[in-house]
Amino acid sequence: MLLNAHRIELEGQYKDWILLAIEDITERRAIQQRKDDFLSIASHELKTPLTTIVGYMQMMERLMPENATDKFKNVVEKTGRYVQRLNQLLSELLDVSRIQTGNIELHREPFDFDRMVVETIEGMRGASPDRTIELSGKTEIFYNGDESHLIQVLNNLLSNAIKYSPAKSTVGVQISKISDFLRVSVSDQGMGIATDDQAKVFDRFYRVGEVQRDYPGMGIGLYICQQIISNHGGTIWVESEKGRGSVFNFTLPINN
Ligand code: ADP
Repeated sequence: MLLNAHRIELEGQYKDWILLAIEDITERRAIQQRKDDFLSIASHELKTPLTTIVGYMQMMERLMPENATDKFKNVVEKTGRYVQRLNQLLSELLDVSRIQTGNIELHREPFDFDRMVVETIEGMRGASPDRTIELSGKTEIFYNGDESHLIQVLNNLLSNAIKYSPAKSTVGVQISKISDFLRVSVSDQGMGIATDDQAKVFDRFYRVGEVQRDYPGMGIGLYICQQIISNHGGTIWVESEKGRGSVFNFTLPINN
């Protein structure tokens, strides 16, 4: 049997007493375990055929005949884009299931931190030409970390900043070295996040109510970011005001 205890605060003459409410969570844990197992099996099973489809899509783009009609080219290009998106969503689901089983591994190697930030922003500018992404600051650090996972974090924060703010607004990225830490801040001029939701957005599958209908997403990007940053020994948090934009910040310890 699995038990969970909550302390109930008492007042007056009983304030030094300890009253515990003990709850049997065996069933709840078993249901959660079944959900985690399902997620893990489903995402693994879907990944293999999808990887093959991605390969064939790329081949189709390469083999496109010169004289193909614009309409046909357009269909192939759009299909390719959606297949890539599907592949990315599935990779995120796989990441979640890896985190659940404690299998997210870091492969640390020193890399030029500023170059990584510049290149990631370049990629995002290409994908979102209607946004201005401004970079300020530098760290001049060869950081000993998992570059591809940190690119994933920055990509996630940038794509959220773009997704949850109006077209033509500016997204800012600020990087700096503060004593023994690197600090990255991604700011936007978008919808912002109410105080009550600010800690919850890092929870698995949590999405702020109002975005559910109008914006695509699964509510796992920030959860994955948090795991990656904390596995590096860093911290991630958000400062925001509803209706006035958000700033997502993370720090990474340099001496590791
Ligand atoms: P997703 O974007 O797929 O829903 P995330 O885990 O990346 O998942 O984000 C969780 C939730 O946090 C989002 O659904 C949204 O409600 C909120 N959020 C994240 N980034 C921003 C942002 N820059 N501005 C406003 N809300 C945000």
